Amino acid sequence: MGNKETQKSLGLTTKIFIALILGAMFGILLHYVVPSSHIKDDILVEGVLYIIGQGFIRLMKMLVVPLVFCSIVCGSMAIGDTKKLGTVGVRALIFYMATTSLAICVALAMGNLLNPGVGLDMSALTANATEMQTMEATSMTSTILNIIPDNPIGALATGNMLQIIVFALIIGIILAKLGEKTETVANFFSQFNDIMMEMTMMVMGLAPLGVFCLISRTFAGIGFSAFLPLAKYMLSVLLALFVQCFLVYLSLLKVFTGLNPFKFIKNFFPVMAFAFSTATSNATIPMSIDTLAAKMGVSKRISSFTVPLGATINMDGTAIMQGVAVVFAAQAFGITLTPADYVTVIGTATLASIGTAGIPSVGLVTLTMVFNAVGLPVEAIGLIMGIDRILDMTRTAVNITGDAVCTTIVAHQNNALDRKVFQNS
Ligand code: ASP
Repeated sequence: MGNKETQKSLGLTTKIFIALILGAMFGILLHYVVPSSHIKDDILVEGVLYIIGQGFIRLMKMLVVPLVFCSIVCGSMAIGDTKKLGTVGVRALIFYMATTSLAICVALAMGNLLNPGVGLDMSALTANATEMQTMEATSMTSTILNIIPDNPIGALATGNMLQIIVFALIIGIILAKLGEKTETVANFFSQFNDIMMEMTMMVMGLAPLGVFCLISRTFAGIGFSAFLPLAKYMLSVLLALFVQCFLVYLSLLKVFTGLNPFKFIKNFFPVMAFAFSTATSNATIPMSIDTLAAKMGVSKRISSFTVPLGATINMDGTAIMQGVAVVFAAQAFGITLTPADYVTVIGTATLASIGTAGIPSVGLVTLTMVFNAVGLPVEAIGLIMGIDRILDMTRTAVNITGDAVCTTIVAHQNNALDRKVFQNS
């Protein structure tokens, strides 16, 4: 899938970028040059631009439940196999979860440090838009109990992500346990997963149009004041990705394996560059396994399991984007997040990262789930979507570096790391 997808996604990247610039220019023109009138305000801005922009957001939302469900069933089917691999699976899982939670904390801290959404007032934009989703205050006991779906079909129908994830996890584990007996159903889910990935690609094909309409409506409403916050948002995400990659991963590598982290990054750089250019974790799996074996001395016995698992469930870069996006949107809409909200964000973004498929832009789709969990309006996603491509490419490079670092640590802990290979590389 590599080459074709690369060309397609690169073409799309350019188109989205052009749509962003044109949309911003058109919006600014509308804001500063065209006088207010029925045709401009009601037919163009609140009519055509609004319908197409919101239509695109609805298409994205349409993907979430089936995409997350299938991807978690397939992911946990792979985890189910870990029994065969014993401690490797458990260790990999612990590292994957821990690094993702750390990543979100880095992102939330960076967001609160740089305040990307301060100075941007988007609250007016939602006055006319879709309903603002606010979370009902629930007690601790019912929050815990609510994780267990009393009606899984109801959970799917209402989009209760936590319940959907629990149900999908159980199905995946059972499918792995029953093996050949349930091969047909297992195949069904992995094929349905392929269908959902294809559908995501198709919806993303409409992104240039969606981005144009969303951005121009935003700029028509708030003029130049949107520029600086967007630049600050980008900078916050990039800085947090940098911290995660060069501080968190490299310290973990040094502490747990004693390997020279800079040499590690130098050896792994070609894979990062490939991930950057494709924005697709999945496509880098073979290259990552090969590089880890040839240059770091990681046994394929370990990496052939942990790398695909990581590419499916471990998305630290994506979690970082989501953490910063939460802070950005909350500030832009003037919503104050409580400490409990932050805990919810850490939890849901970790789960969202598990449910994010390793293909371009899915992180934006699962971002809706994080926003819903803390009652943020999903309209903000339309704004950041315009500049997401470059962030998608960068976070994918971080996503797969996280997988590689965890894999190397787990290999070291399981005596499957040949240090001579690393030293001589
Ligand atoms: N493009 C990312 C990946 O493949 C997923 C995302 O964040 O959209 O790892």
